[in-house]
Formats: sequence, C-alpha cells, structure tokens
Amino acid sequence: MSGLFRGRKALVSIYSKCNLSGLTSPPPIEVRFSESAGRGVFATRRIGAGELIHTAKPIVSHPSLSSLDKVCYFCFTNLKSSNLLPFCSDQCRQHSKIFYETEKQADWSAFHDYCRTQGLKYPLLVKRLACMIISDAATPETLDVLQPATLSSEMILLMEKEYQLLRSTFKDAGFTDEQIAFLSKQWYINVLARIRINSFRIELALGSYEDILLSAAASVEAEAAVGNAIYMLPSFYNHDCDPNAHILWIESVNAKLKALRDIEAGEELRICYIDASMDHDARHTILFEGFGFHCKCARCMSND
Ligand SMILES: [Zn+2]
Ligand SMILES: [Zn+2]
Repeated sequence: MSGLFRGRKALVSIYSKCNLSGLTSPPPIEVRFSESAGRGVFATRRIGAGELIHTAKPIVSHPSLSSLDKVCYFCFTNLKSSNLLPFCSDQCRQHSKIFYETEKQADWSAFHDYCRTQGLKYPLLVKRLACMIISDAATPETLDVLQPATLSSEMILLMEKEYQLLRSTFKDAGFTDEQIAFLSKQWYINVLARIRINSFRIELALGSYEDILLSAAASVEAEAAVGNAIYMLPSFYNHDCDPNAHILWIESVNAKLKALRDIEAGEELRICYIDASMDHDARHTILFEGFGFHCKCARCMSND
C-alpha cells in the first residue's frame, strides 16, 4: 500500500521498534521509499528462494468469535485440554495478563453479539487495543505510524453503534471517564481506518508440515480464519499480483515472511494482499474497494 511521506528518520525508529524474534542476525531488509508505491521493504542482500526473511509478532490481535475456546486467546495456537483456558500455556497467560485482567472486568456479551450478527471483526481489535491502553500496555498512538484507509461518511456512520457499545461496555463496568478519555469517536475512526487496510486475516497451517501431509483434515481446517492481527513491519510490504515474498502462519499468530523466489540485493519485496489466482478484473475490483489503489504491477500491466 502506498505510504504517506513521513521522512526517513521516522522510518528508522519505526524499524528498530519492529519485533524481529527468532533470528540471530538482523533481517536482510530495510524500509525505504519507492517512487511507485511510497513506503516499501527492500532486500539489503541477495535472498534465496524459500529463505525465511524474518518473523513478526503482532502489535494487536484477536481471535475470531467462532474460534473462541478453540484457539489460544493470545497466540491462536489450537487449544488442547488445558487448565489455563483460554490460553495455551503459562507463557501466553503471562503475556496477556495486563490487558486480560482489564478485559475481564467488563461484560462483553452485547459487544460480541453485535459483532457476530453484523459480521464485524475489526471492532474486536479495537476492543483489545483499548484494553491494552487502559492497562498501559499500549498508547492511544500505537497504530498512528500505519497508513489509514480513506473512509466514506457512510462507513463512519455505520461505526457509531459499535463505538457506543464499546464505550458503554467500559462505562457499565465502572471504568472512569479519565481511564477511557482516549476513547473518543475520532480516535475510534482513526484506529479503524488503519486496521481496515493493515490487518491480516490469520489462517493457520496446522501442525508441522509432516502433520499436514498425514492429516487430510488439516488442510481443510487451515482454510478457516482463526483471527485477525496487526503487525508493524509486515504492513510496510507493498502488494504485487505476482509476489516475490509470502506471509504465512504455522501453528500461531507469529508471522513468517518467506522468499518465494531468488531476490537480488536492492530489489523490493512484495507480498500479495489477495487471492492471486483471481483474474485481472476481480483483482482490480478487490484491491480498489479493499485497499484503495489501482494495481500497476507487471502482471496487471501485461493484462494477465
Ligand atoms: Zn498461546
Ligand atoms: Zn497487480
């Protein structure tokens, strides 16, 4: 997605804040500006096909309502019988402790029911972010660095009800005006505008690759979205209908960015935001309606 110009200096600090766990050396990439698409991710050395470029942990995540009680409330790993419910491990329970204790103080049934009947997933991410802010695990500006979608007045009007429900859920639970002072209508709109084009729909490749080969059901199950999440660095990747990189999730919400083919030093790394198997017209409609741009990648320009 094309980024707003924020200056190189700002990018360096964003980049250093990105969570790059599981790698012993710095990832072979840098975030800079491309003439065609604004902010982008570029290779700093040659990257081989299949190479794990980096991993990323989410800034904010939330399981889908249909996955509650099936996956860990923090990392989305499939739950086995556990006395730590709704978490998969003591580690996830510890990581969630701050925001979860805030969340548990309120009754979310009306808010969840509204999201369920309206088919809304993004307000759940705002709910978690709000709980993180109240608990000092995030600031109201946490997502500001991400590019916002342009929202129509119609979209903003539709947000009124979910915003009011979020606010009243906190109020009814006894949170003070001071604790939820950040939760203005404008803040809600700003956050939703960023979540809308930067959130990833998480579909887990279940188990190890061996398990996937052994179990016929695993591949079917992997098609269902278990939740949504926002990442920092993966959000800086631009789109291509014939991408050279790929984002995937194995067992948990922690993302893996892999090279799909050999990439030269200096080349831009791009992922495909949509189902790449769709035809030209379908891709263009979805990219424009969902992300607000007309794709000019090589595949689109050749009208494939
Ligand atoms: Zn977990
Ligand atoms: Zn394209």
